[in-house]
Amino acid sequence: MSTTRNRQIFEEACCLALKADGSRLTLARKAIIRALADAEGPLTAKEVMSRVSTRHQEQTGSVDLASVYRTLDRLADLNLVHPVSPQGSYLPCHHGQCKHSSHVLLACSGCAKLEEIHLPDQILGPLYWYLSESHHFKGDNRPFQITGLCKECKSA
Ligand SMILES: [Zn+2]
Ligand SMILES: [Zn+2]
Ligand SMILES: [Zn+2]
Repeated sequence: MSTTRNRQIFEEACCLALKADGSRLTLARKAIIRALADAEGPLTAKEVMSRVSTRHQEQTGSVDLASVYRTLDRLADLNLVHPVSPQGSYLPCHHGQCKHSSHVLLACSGCAKLEEIHLPDQILGPLYWYLSESHHFKGDNRPFQITGLCKECKSA
């Protein structure tokens, strides 16, 4: 659920990060960020584009899909939205202010609900340690996705 406060924090974080990254904050970009902030769940690039076009056409003119993808990719690099597979959608991250460093995305294959939750380091730490010891692989600590059934779908 995106409360007004969450929405503001998300919008500010995106604007600051894009600026720090040297990207120009065009009206179209701001409208894209606003559409993501208002979203109740993950959005595909096409959904972002149609929300931007219906709501902000007067200010932004038409926004093309390529620039929506560019902005989403940029925000994903900056860890402000999380790509969701196999839908190819993007979940706005509302954990930017969060002190917990580790998160996972729980994706329900029954109702398609998607949730980002904290994962205690005591749980994730051993996994990263194992990957490093046994596969010489260093995880980058970005949230990864676990697919399964949520509480409601499990008991249905
Ligand atoms: Zn996140
Ligand atoms: Zn968090
Ligand atoms: Zn479900």
